[in-house]
Amino acid sequence: MGQIPLVDYLVLGDEPRLVANECTSCGARYFDRRNACARCGRQEFETVDVSRTGTLRSFTIVHFAAKGVDVPFVAGVVDCAGTIVSGNVVNVPPDPRHVSLGMDVRLTTVPVGTDTAGVMAVGFGFEPVAERE
Ligand SMILES: [Zn+2]
Repeated sequence: MGQIPLVDYLVLGDEPRLVANECTSCGARYFDRRNACARCGRQEFETVDVSRTGTLRSFTIVHFAAKGVDVPFVAGVVDCAGTIVSGNVVNVPPDPRHVSLGMDVRLTTVPVGTDTAGVMAVGFGFEPVAERE
């Protein structure tokens, strides 16, 4: 059975990772495709791996979402060694006793769904490093 990443900046494999487009002039990083750097205007980018571990900088516990989306869930913003990544905090109870600012998290993959051909779509999230239950 095959797997495909839900977003094109997620690379699957033994060690799943996120990749960013980094401006070769100023080092700004983007997850989407850019024609020019928003910070310095140059047009050369290279693909770089983003750190698989990070620190939770902000989070929101989401209680209402579109039909078909399980709630509550934790939407987070993670600082991965300087690269800011938006992603859900997973594998942890979605309440403030288990999720806290500044906690260490690491990248993990989350199965999203399987199509009729048996191909599984895989997304990503961040799970706590220390307090995994
Ligand atoms: Zn730049």
